[in-house]
Amino acid sequence: MIQPYTPDVSLKGKLRRRLARLTHRRPARLDLDRPVVSFTFDDIPASAAHAGAQALEKHGARGTFYVCAGLFGRDGHMGRFANAAEISALIHQGHEVAGHTLDHVDCHRTAPAALEADLDANDLALRGLGAAPLHFAYPYGEVSPRAKKQLGARYASLRGVHKALVHDGGDRNQLPGVGIEGPDGEALTRAWIDRAVAERAWLILYTHDVRETPSPWGCTPDALDRLIDHARTAGCDIRTVGEVLAA
Ligand SMILES: [Zn+2]
Repeated sequence: MIQPYTPDVSLKGKLRRRLARLTHRRPARLDLDRPVVSFTFDDIPASAAHAGAQALEKHGARGTFYVCAGLFGRDGHMGRFANAAEISALIHQGHEVAGHTLDHVDCHRTAPAALEADLDANDLALRGLGAAPLHFAYPYGEVSPRAKKQLGARYASLRGVHKALVHDGGDRNQLPGVGIEGPDGEALTRAWIDRAVAERAWLILYTHDVRETPSPWGCTPDALDRLIDHARTAGCDIRTVGEVLAA
């Protein structure tokens, strides 16, 4: 079992993450003809690698999967985690595989040398499966100015968990993320998709397990399917993080 998903919700933690947003910024150049939504998955429970990926494929779309290779095949509070073969299958299906540390470590609390070793090991494992891990999501959304600087030197983008849309000039080193999670997850996400349409912006969504009875950090396959359908019907492109930033 890995530690349950417990971000630091203290005032100090919130202030640190907010302060980090002001430092080590790297502007993303976006010139969007249409609103765009990225569906992303963190940690990668096996259910996300199967039901999550299939929901996107059914709509001709692909997702971004932020993978911790240290969790391969282990059991956790979000169900069994995907193994190497299941992540390899995602790559084969055209999904984007990105980094999330080897052992789901808190990037703020981990010393720089230990963090670098962890990232090296995770990237090596993912490259061994045929992935090019160019992008990264902060485990627990935990970030500090120091971690942001260190990770920004390694990856083309870094995603957090603060709720916002991305416009031209948005910070690649601390991209926002809106969670499809919890009892109100679907309704809140629908509203964020509508905002992205109104502002012709980029919305990055994330979730964890995709199951009939999801954990508090996941969603059901039907909810995910309805959200993909809503994004498409509302006129959004659905692209991976790497596709949006490379365009
Ligand atoms: Zn995570």
